[in-house]
Amino acid sequence: MTKTLGVTGGIGSGKTAVCRLFEDLGARVFYADVEAKKLMAEDPEARAEIVAVFGPESYDADGRLDRAYLAAKVFGDQENVARINAIVHPRVFAAFERARAQAERDGVALLVHEAALIFEAGGERRLDAVAVVDAPEEVRIRRVVARDGVAPEQVRARMGHQLSPDELRRRADFVIDNTGSLDDLREQVERVYHAVMETSSLRRQGSSQTSRDSGFLPSQQ
Ligand code: ATP
Repeated sequence: MTKTLGVTGGIGSGKTAVCRLFEDLGARVFYADVEAKKLMAEDPEARAEIVAVFGPESYDADGRLDRAYLAAKVFGDQENVARINAIVHPRVFAAFERARAQAERDGVALLVHEAALIFEAGGERRLDAVAVVDAPEEVRIRRVVARDGVAPEQVRARMGHQLSPDELRRRADFVIDNTGSLDDLREQVERVYHAVMETSSLRRQGSSQTSRDSGFLPSQQ
């Protein structure tokens, strides 16, 4: 049976780096934010709902999603955040369930669900365990500035929309500390991989809170 592990953490914590290492170990990774962006752009029903709720301006003349327009709509507006989440999250979860079924058919031992938001959307109930990646704020800022060429203040502003590192650590089944080198990271990923493969306990149906934020729009990430 395919095991499922959520990988989450704040901006620049190293989620993608961790997922690449899981892939090296043979795991398959479902990138939830990529899936969310794809379905907002392509899924006809999601598009129709977005237009019904946020207006035809949500897509430009060529039919492309106007991410800046939607981001402005949801920024600081909890009702609109809840509305976009209600359109996107159930479809991402449905896509994950399809990915899980496919992974079972393919005999994949571990399917990783990578997402900036897992607990915020109650996603942990669908997973066997959740790993939180963390590193000191200054390290995360330095890495994102180097990766994206943005200003440190922009990174800090995006951090403000996410659960605090303490809260994430409290809810995690595993904490992966990404303060050190990529070799350190690899060792920890290997430990988590083996721990997940050895455990039979399922986390699914655990407690959760309702959607609170939307991680798949630019200003929210
Ligand atoms: P985001 O929240 O923006 O999606 P993320 O959590 O996926 O980010 P990564 O993209 O994996 O974070 O890492 C941020 C940057 O830091 C990347 O350029 C990555 O290559 C680099 N990085 C990650 N871990 C380390 C490490 N241990 N040592 C050096 N660089 C690292």
